[in-house]
Amino acid sequence: MTNEEMNVIIGLEVHCQLNTSSKLFCACSADFRGDAPNTHTCPVCLGLPGTLPVLNKRAIEYALKVAKAFNCVVLEKSEFCRKNYFYPDLVKAYQITMGDNPLAVGGYVEIEDDAGNPKIINLTRIHVEEDPGRLVHMGNREYGHYTLVDYNRSGIPLIEMVTEPELSSPKEARRFLNKLRAMLEYLDVFDPEKEGAIRVDANISIKGHERVEIKNISSYKGVEKALIFEITRQKNLINRGGTIVRETRHFQEGKGTTISARSKETATDYRYFPEPDLPIICVADWIKDIISPELPDARRDRFMQQYGITANHAKTLTGDLKLAEFYETIADVGAAITASWTADILIGELNYRDMSLGIVAPHASEFKDLVTLIRDKKITDKAGIEVLRVWLDNLRTGTKMEKPTKIVERLNLARESGEHLRGIVEQILASNPQAIIDHKTRKKGALNFIVGQVVKETRGKFDPREIHAMIAEFVGK
Ligand SMILES: [Zn+2]
Repeated sequence: MTNEEMNVIIGLEVHCQLNTSSKLFCACSADFRGDAPNTHTCPVCLGLPGTLPVLNKRAIEYALKVAKAFNCVVLEKSEFCRKNYFYPDLVKAYQITMGDNPLAVGGYVEIEDDAGNPKIINLTRIHVEEDPGRLVHMGNREYGHYTLVDYNRSGIPLIEMVTEPELSSPKEARRFLNKLRAMLEYLDVFDPEKEGAIRVDANISIKGHERVEIKNISSYKGVEKALIFEITRQKNLINRGGTIVRETRHFQEGKGTTISARSKETATDYRYFPEPDLPIICVADWIKDIISPELPDARRDRFMQQYGITANHAKTLTGDLKLAEFYETIADVGAAITASWTADILIGELNYRDMSLGIVAPHASEFKDLVTLIRDKKITDKAGIEVLRVWLDNLRTGTKMEKPTKIVERLNLARESGEHLRGIVEQILASNPQAIIDHKTRKKGALNFIVGQVVKETRGKFDPREIHAMIAEFVGK
């Protein structure tokens, strides 16, 4: 069987930290990042004997918001239970989670398959559970000499969302996670800027073979990498006549590989039993009072209708809540030109610099000024990109806060036309006689070469069409 004929089957378990102000079962502040280890703790989240958990109502409300947005069915009775296992980050030696009676079942997410067609990914269940603490390995994983434990994360509320095994490629998995992340951000139940706010376990198999679980991929961007590696490993093993063993593997982010961790536990290994310290919760009726905000698909449709922009621009701009809000604050410059400069150019330049929109968003009005200069033909597109790059580099390093209008002045990039161009064209033609001969003998690319020289000399201050016309005056079309 060739590699292409082997069907890949992927299912995901996504853990997402809810951004409630306190933890799931105690009043400790959940906003612990940047604080000293073990400072956000109390007897409850340290699991001391005699303490009792008190359920955070807000966490359940957030989970219901998610359940409603994904069209899940909330169960009449949901039950917390104990998942028993020993690990140093788990103070009580059990995790409070949900078993056979989760918060909600069913539901779905619509994504695009690899051919660009709509595809429904069904959800199995959504449940609420507590995060364990965090282990900090000093040294590296192979040769660490000691490990520190930080319980600040112990008891942070998580929702776990489980998909049916319906994803067919690593790219589909990435699109699913992007969509999921955008929806959770729109729902205002999680903060994507927080490190480790989304963690993913992936089940992956080749049709007809055993399934392998990759645990705790700490960035959702790492998921695609982990899946690509694991698919190749499994296909190669099958092609060599080997057998896939049902096991759990760890993803090594730095190396981009997975390694065998342990043989797979079954549910019975965890001795699940109902949590005796918490009552059964009945929240099915609450769902009708939950108000859903505008979600990404609805906002995409509105953008197309309200601003008349293309489907692709609308999809990109609404794929991230902050980007959608950024666009709406500046769209009055002109919906189409703003969409293009934001979705096509700004995002590309941000990605290139590994910058987040969060750095640019507070300076939206300056970006708006830049788009206005381009709209009013005060600078050319080429000069616009040069200004954008200088402006972004300044924002990134934080060295010089210079507005785009000032950058245009300082670099003398205001658009020019007329006689000044004539002089430069004459000069370029005089110093490139071979290019003129090439152009007259219809050699391909000769005219573009001359135009390129003039653009370079004038640093993009003239409209390329004007340059073309001027050169044609001298050497013919
Ligand atoms: Zn606590």
